[in-house]
Amino acid sequence: MDNIRQSRSIERFVEGIATSDGAGVKLTRVLTGKLQRRLDPFLMLDAFGSDDPDDYIAGFPDHPHRGFETVTYMLVGRMRHRDSAGHEGLLNDGGVQWMTAGRGVIHSEIPEQQGGVMEGFQLWLNLPAQNKMTEPWYQDFPSAAIPEYLTPEGITVRVIAGSSNGVAGAVSREVTEPIYLDIHLPVGADFATALPATHNAFIYVYRGAVTVGDCTVQAQRMGILSNSVGADGVSLHAEQDARLILVAGKPLNEPIVQYGPFVMNTQEEIHRALDDFRSGRFA
Ligand code: MN
Repeated sequence: MDNIRQSRSIERFVEGIATSDGAGVKLTRVLTGKLQRRLDPFLMLDAFGSDDPDDYIAGFPDHPHRGFETVTYMLVGRMRHRDSAGHEGLLNDGGVQWMTAGRGVIHSEIPEQQGGVMEGFQLWLNLPAQNKMTEPWYQDFPSAAIPEYLTPEGITVRVIAGSSNGVAGAVSREVTEPIYLDIHLPVGADFATALPATHNAFIYVYRGAVTVGDCTVQAQRMGILSNSVGADGVSLHAEQDARLILVAGKPLNEPIVQYGPFVMNTQEEIHRALDDFRSGRFA
């Protein structure tokens, strides 16, 4: 495992806001607009999890996106994606869907289950100004296609993006160099992974509790990791069996102007996005 000289610490906890989106899907918005600057290049993180079909069954009917990427990680459940660029895929337990909206897509995300548990995350990753109008791109990664490693201590790490302890993930991106890990820790385990000093980073614990330094992050909480000078990674300890995601990326330091599903650099570009959408230029 990576030898960390100095771990980042927890700068603050974030509880998230219960809300609903799409056609009434209940979710917790963990990374909200207020944190976009602090957690640049990430724009949003939604956590959804319910065993009540009324909370998710209507899904997200046709809606547009422009200027960023959406990364959906399904822990449990089945969701069908269709978009105006002609892509279609079924997201299943443990699978990831990575969509680059670029200059614009209209898509739908609809559950394909009548009951049972649906649980997962949607993360929005910003695109640099020069790539905001790139061609849309889409790829499904079924669970078996997500690189994974197991440590002697029994820790499982799924590497969705970037790399960890020498294992390269399913997706890599220039400019923002995102790292996205799903980490499963048995009680008592210690885990470390290197993080570039340039990156903003956070963890979100979805089972159990995880300690970083002298701070414990409980389940359903985000812990923002400090950008301490000299810190070369993060060390975690599991107080109990725990699962968390760790997300990090290099900030763009560009203006962020958001209007719902459009994230651009200027107000003028937002007006153009709305105009293009209303005039049918997304399809
Ligand atoms: Mn969407």
